[in-house]
Amino acid sequence: VASTTTAASTPTSYPTSHVQVEQPLDTQNFIDNQFLPSKATQWIDLHDPATNNLVTRVPQSTDEEMRAAVDSAEKAFPAWKATSVLHRQQIMFKFVALIREHWDRLAASITLEQGKTFADAKGDVLRGLQVAETACGITTQITGEVLEVAKDMETRSYREPLGVVAAICPFNFPAMIPLWTIPVAAVTGNTCIIKPSERDPGAMMILAELAEKAGFPPGVINVIHGSAKAVDFILDEPKIKAISFVGSNKAGEYIYQRASANGKRVQANLGAKNHAAVLPDCNKNHALNAIAGAAFGAAGQRCMALSTLVFVGETQDWAPELAQRAKQLSMNGGFEEGADLGPVISPQAKERINDLIASAEKEGATIVLDGRNQKPANYPNGNWVGPTIIANVTKDMTCYKEEIFGPVLVCLNVPTLDDAISLINDNEYGNGVAIFTRSGSTATKFQKEIEAGQVGINVPIPVPLPMFSFTGNKKSVAGGGASTFYGKPGLQFYTQQKTVTSFWRAEDATSTRAKVNMPT
Ligand code: NAD
Repeated sequence: VASTTTAASTPTSYPTSHVQVEQPLDTQNFIDNQFLPSKATQWIDLHDPATNNLVTRVPQSTDEEMRAAVDSAEKAFPAWKATSVLHRQQIMFKFVALIREHWDRLAASITLEQGKTFADAKGDVLRGLQVAETACGITTQITGEVLEVAKDMETRSYREPLGVVAAICPFNFPAMIPLWTIPVAAVTGNTCIIKPSERDPGAMMILAELAEKAGFPPGVINVIHGSAKAVDFILDEPKIKAISFVGSNKAGEYIYQRASANGKRVQANLGAKNHAAVLPDCNKNHALNAIAGAAFGAAGQRCMALSTLVFVGETQDWAPELAQRAKQLSMNGGFEEGADLGPVISPQAKERINDLIASAEKEGATIVLDGRNQKPANYPNGNWVGPTIIANVTKDMTCYKEEIFGPVLVCLNVPTLDDAISLINDNEYGNGVAIFTRSGSTATKFQKEIEAGQVGINVPIPVPLPMFSFTGNKKSVAGGGASTFYGKPGLQFYTQQKTVTSFWRAEDATSTRAKVNMPT
């Protein structure tokens, strides 16, 4: 079985099952367009979540290696910035074509290292690919403004790249999240340091190989590895001008503060507790299918997973029917035909999720469907938690207050739409929210009064496509969400404005006395 972490160069050479990789190869750094073995003394074992077999060892890149990556990016910057936007666009076209060609290989790496099903992993790649495709339109997206501000005097604005920028990525979207940075940052003329999650860097390593093939010059895309130590290096390195972070609140709030204190631009997307309000007048069949899919798909390990259901009025009686839909989902190794959800990322994640389910039971909630102690027959050693539905949850319970990040749906009951809106608005997170109703006026009231930044109306996971921007708010972002990922705000994040004011009328400059007042 080929390891996805090698620079296997064909789109068809990738694992198609969870069998033990014959000779696990160490993950390498990618610096100056070269895959380089790390001289690390500390390594992180990466296990297939479906089997806990060793897939690769990920280095804690050494200080010397991390500095070499930054030096490479810094050295590449002036020439890369000086290339024409049309040239950078051509490289992006090739990058997009290569990602499409290697789509299955990228997805296989994700299934092996992260655990999500192969079909879902293809979606992970596609969502990132769409950011790259949209970035190909850079030639019309980055035009400046010009105005004649006085006679013979005009001001023009340009958007210029920042320099070396970095991305610190989470485990749950190993292709999509690096691709929230690379296309937008690189096409605008920046050079990049990417630190993928130490739990599944394989997809990023394939993207690095494809970036080199597409024609990105040495130093434009570099990859270093590790956990907190690599992150601290990025936060403190003066040559790095901006940081894009996606991950948990614990890491993100720390990263935002330390990087901001060091004078860097930071955009940081954090955790979530996404609610759906179900109204009695909704299309019940659509709502139940959508909720089960959005709660349990990817084993609930999506920042936009629907983890919290608000039954309005009589819909609380629908819990058993929802449990029926959830029971039909097949939990299995992600390469298996028909698998709906795979394992969770680690034995520790499984234990944490099981503890949160136990806490709900202890605090008086009703376990309608219990996913603890379930496992597919052929995968006895994986990190399995089956779909779990907890009803009669109240706001004070631990399972409501914490982001569970597993296939667990907590359900609360309220009598009216107004109660649903105030319950949801009381929650400190503001990533995504959904309402299921057939009434336009109900949906409009909800859309206007709800605080969360991404609203779905009969849409369970309303993630905006890349022509828009990812607009979570409240505790789901750091720094008040001043800068959001991709779309127009993404372009603004990776560029700074320069304005040039010019005056072209030298011929009548005959006076020999300087004017000292501001022109009025
Ligand atoms: P995580 O915070 O554990 O890890 C994210 C990154 O931060 C990794 O690269 C990791 O190496 C680094 N890191 C972890 N702990 C650190 C520490 N103490 N100091 C410095 N760096 C540290 O997150 P995760 O478990 O990989 O991802 C899941 C989380 O990400 C969930 O909370 C999920 O909601 C969130 N997420 C949010 C979005 C969004 O757009 N809002 C998208 C995806 C995931």
